[in-house]
Amino acid sequence: MITIAVANQKGGVGKTTTAINIATAMAATGWKTLLIDLDPQGNASTGMGVENEDRANSSYELLVEGMPLGECIVPSTIPGLDIVPATQDLSGAEVELVSVEDRTDRLRNAIAGHGEHEICFIDCPPSLGLLTLNALGAADTLLVPLQCEFFALEGLSQLLQTVERVQQRFNPDLGIIGVVLTMFDRRNRLTDQVADDVRDCLGELVFQSVIPRNVRLSEAPSHGLPALVYDHDCAGSRAYMALARELIGRLPEERKAA
Ligand code: ATP
Ligand code: MG
Repeated sequence: MITIAVANQKGGVGKTTTAINIATAMAATGWKTLLIDLDPQGNASTGMGVENEDRANSSYELLVEGMPLGECIVPSTIPGLDIVPATQDLSGAEVELVSVEDRTDRLRNAIAGHGEHEICFIDCPPSLGLLTLNALGAADTLLVPLQCEFFALEGLSQLLQTVERVQQRFNPDLGIIGVVLTMFDRRNRLTDQVADDVRDCLGELVFQSVIPRNVRLSEAPSHGLPALVYDHDCAGSRAYMALARELIGRLPEERKAA
């Protein structure tokens, strides 16, 4: 299983929207896909339509209580896409794990050897705390949603420093598969300027596919559906399909079996 953390410590940049829709796009393309909700807000779980009564076993049980992964997975309404949901309990994990020896390796150990899914996306919370560190420790690579706004690059340097620390300390092979520009508004000149700056600075790391600001993307979660199902032909859904194709192109050859 190739594991991709969707991370950016900035809030509201499109992590969850990206995680939900890229996971759906991969499942639609025939990949056995797992989505792990690692944010106590539980937005990915809600956006996928996972009811509260189906969250008895969640990422909290997986991470803190050491419950086996298989017992924490619930099917989604999308064929080929399963989810480990999140609950509020997870907000206590940072404190509960603080004195645990393997606190940064909990997720990595929990998913090690899991062969039922081919690809896994982890939706991270907006911080660089222990939850995100667990995601970075468990991941093969990182997908970074970046909102086209003035401080975008500043936040990014902090994230890249964290990635470096994680590489040095406990996950030397952690890569960055790419940065995706989100909420792009072509009528806004600042957005354009930021996008140009980001491409100047990061070059090839930035995906060609850009996610436009699109109201269908923001409506879909309230229906408990990925945008790709809610309105598969809207500009946002098409952008996420294009992103998925690009992402597959960047996966290591031997992993593209699906
Ligand atoms: P958090 O840091 O709180 O976890 P996040 O980075 O996961 O936030 P999202 O929840 O995906 O960000 O998006 C923030 C808000 O912006 C949500 O209301 C979402 O519906 C909306 N949104 C995300 N992407 C788009 C888009 N491309 N067009 C329009 N609205 C969007
Ligand atoms: Mg989120």
